[in-house]
Amino acid sequence: MKTPVLFHVDIDAFLASVEQIVHPELRGKPVAVGDGVVASCSYEARALGVCSPMRLSEARRICPQLVVRKGHAQVSRRFAQDLVRICGDHSPTVERVSLDEVYCDMTGLDRHYGFRREGAGCWPLEAAEHLRGEIRGETGLSVTIGIGTNRVAARTAARWAKPGGVGYLLPGREARALRDLPLEDLPGAGPAVRAELADLRIGTAGELRALGKPVLRALFGENGALLHERAWGRDARSVEPDRTPGSISRETSFEKATDDPDHIEGTLYYLTERAAHALRSEALAARTVGVRIRYADGVGAERRATLPSPAALDPELFRVARELFQALFVRRSRLHLVGVTLTGLAPSTARQMDLFLDARRDPARLCGGVDRIRERYGFSALVAGPSLFLLSDLPQDPHGFVLRTPSLTL
Ligand SMILES: [Mg+2]
Repeated sequence: MKTPVLFHVDIDAFLASVEQIVHPELRGKPVAVGDGVVASCSYEARALGVCSPMRLSEARRICPQLVVRKGHAQVSRRFAQDLVRICGDHSPTVERVSLDEVYCDMTGLDRHYGFRREGAGCWPLEAAEHLRGEIRGETGLSVTIGIGTNRVAARTAARWAKPGGVGYLLPGREARALRDLPLEDLPGAGPAVRAELADLRIGTAGELRALGKPVLRALFGENGALLHERAWGRDARSVEPDRTPGSISRETSFEKATDDPDHIEGTLYYLTERAAHALRSEALAARTVGVRIRYADGVGAERRATLPSPAALDPELFRVARELFQALFVRRSRLHLVGVTLTGLAPSTARQMDLFLDARRDPARLCGGVDRIRERYGFSALVAGPSLFLLSDLPQDPHGFVLRTPSLTL
């Protein structure tokens, strides 16, 4: 069997880099993207002590020349899609793990690429440099690529090579290389797990191994057993090309806290439309709709509802979102934020078209047609339903309305 070769491809300083590409005057400057806290910052900003998640007020204090931007979710998503597309040209198996990170299975592709076999395992480095160059050339983005025999090895190699490098954890060296890895860099060791381990004075992968698998399983269940494997640099998870995302959400905070019902309903509709568009582009349907709000005084509330059958169309999803919103928005206070989350995602089964229905009245056909127009001419080519109220309130660009602090999910 061939030794597995996995790439972990990670965009450097994703949101800040996108700002620097779209606004060339920001190149070489310390840039932070965020609202309230730093969500992403350029390496120029990092060199001056800014990091994420730091409060923006603190970041401005230690770095007065910091350029702070709100970012643009739709534009960033475009770059993320380009990353997946280009990686797909290099590997038959690409898995997106977040907007700015993918795994590519490169096993056995040495011949395909025609790389010379000189010395042990040198073709993966050449293939990675080639891929890095192509991503840079097509999108302007800098990425780091980690190479390893499994996911945890590739991811760790990428951490060490950041930013803008290629790291290769050679086959057979995993256990030794990961021994001193801090637990925050070990996948699966979240804050709660780390806090519990810190009480036992365990802070590295090597110290974790010493506990042994039975103890870890007793402490953390199956996740404990997995952690033990990863601490040894072993990881049985394969690269899964079409993994269904857990949820799709879209949210925004308002430029100014508002209680204008038209503006709020328009925003809710627009967010639902965007989430539903993403849902359909993944050929998925959602079983559960959730709505989240936060008032200007910081109080938040959320609620979800399960549909009788999975839905993917704007009107069905919006009807539920609006009901949830009306049940949630009960205080006499202005709203700061609203968001829509679709969960319970499953591949959508093709709907039976009713031939006797007028196409203009058939929501499935209508949504499909709208999707195609938007794919071709940009999301803002069509404004529909209550989001018409937003036309007078919000700036628009070809990617849609320019929202504030939009959440970034698939
Ligand atoms: Mg990244």
